[in-house]
Amino acid sequence: MGLFGAIGVVIYLSALLQLSPGASAYFFPNASAIPPSLLPNFTSGSPWDVFHNFTGCHAGEKRDGLNKLKKYFHYFGYIPDGSPNNLTDDFDDSLEAAIKTYQRNFNLDPTGQLDEATMKQIVKPRCGNPDIVNGTTSMSSGKTTSSLFHTVGHYTFFPGTPRWPEDRRDLTYAFLPGNNLPETAKAAFTRAFQRWAEVTPLTFTETSSYGAADIRIGFFSGDHGDGEAFDGVLGTLAHAFSPPNGMFHLDRDENWMVEGDVTQASVSTTVDLESVAVHEIGHLLGLGHSSVEESIMYPTISSRTRKVDLAADDVQGIQILYGSNPNSNGSSTSESATQERESSDGGPRLLGWAAAALSAVGSGFVLL
Ligand SMILES: [Zn+2]
Ligand SMILES: [Zn+2]
Repeated sequence: MGLFGAIGVVIYLSALLQLSPGASAYFFPNASAIPPSLLPNFTSGSPWDVFHNFTGCHAGEKRDGLNKLKKYFHYFGYIPDGSPNNLTDDFDDSLEAAIKTYQRNFNLDPTGQLDEATMKQIVKPRCGNPDIVNGTTSMSSGKTTSSLFHTVGHYTFFPGTPRWPEDRRDLTYAFLPGNNLPETAKAAFTRAFQRWAEVTPLTFTETSSYGAADIRIGFFSGDHGDGEAFDGVLGTLAHAFSPPNGMFHLDRDENWMVEGDVTQASVSTTVDLESVAVHEIGHLLGLGHSSVEESIMYPTISSRTRKVDLAADDVQGIQILYGSNPNSNGSSTSESATQERESSDGGPRLLGWAAAALSAVGSGFVLL
């Protein structure tokens, strides 16, 4: 074993994309040994850190910059009306209602106040896709599900329940050629696709023809032409479109870890690429966000966290769209997910919530 072999190899993708286009990767013996100075974004915090200043702020108050928090709620669908540019610094009824809905979706006490627990959740890095579209939330819906799992499902679908058509079960994916991803990064996506292939009749095969691929994966910085700009380190991490669009975008400015133990990363803003990929592929196949915290389709993921196993909620949702894997007689993924679900089930707490239609998350063909 050489210097780099014993513990595992880590590549920070953002360093790689920005500093060495087309060149070979930076390799490090382990995550904690990465010199932070090699990371272009190591000093940056989340764009949402400033929201902590509003902790304790309550209805009727006016605070400088509160419009930015309202923009956040508007972006993720919690303030459905009007333009995000006309939002004021007033803690008004619309903000209070948004906070209450947000709290329900994230299993928090629906006080309508910016308490510490709520603020802690708000600033977590998350998927850029909204939780609510057209003023209707289904993240917290109390749908009853099959007796197989004895639980309440909280998975959601896009409006109209789009899915890949029946004659398209063998899907292809490709990486934006200009990104020049190393094989280790591509392998993280391959593993993420496999999680969904295990529990469905779908297969995923890499192709080099980006234009012709069913699913097209690209890393972009800031505004990249689809009206959903990325925001630098943390904040929104990625977004993906509903079937059969296939567009899968990731924020190039994150400190992505492609391999190795992300929990040991020396830089606090490090994000696990495979974990985010498993979530976004769920969108690409037709799933919306879920309020089940253990589920892959839960909207937030903390940095230095790995979460790649499908929960029972994810499996139930995707199998409603596509059925199960005909070559599998009960995968270990769904079995372990079921056990996990039964031992830490938030179901009873969620049962009383308003039932919504299956198709309440997403807008048109894009769920961002
Ligand atoms: Zn998402
Ligand atoms: Zn995009």
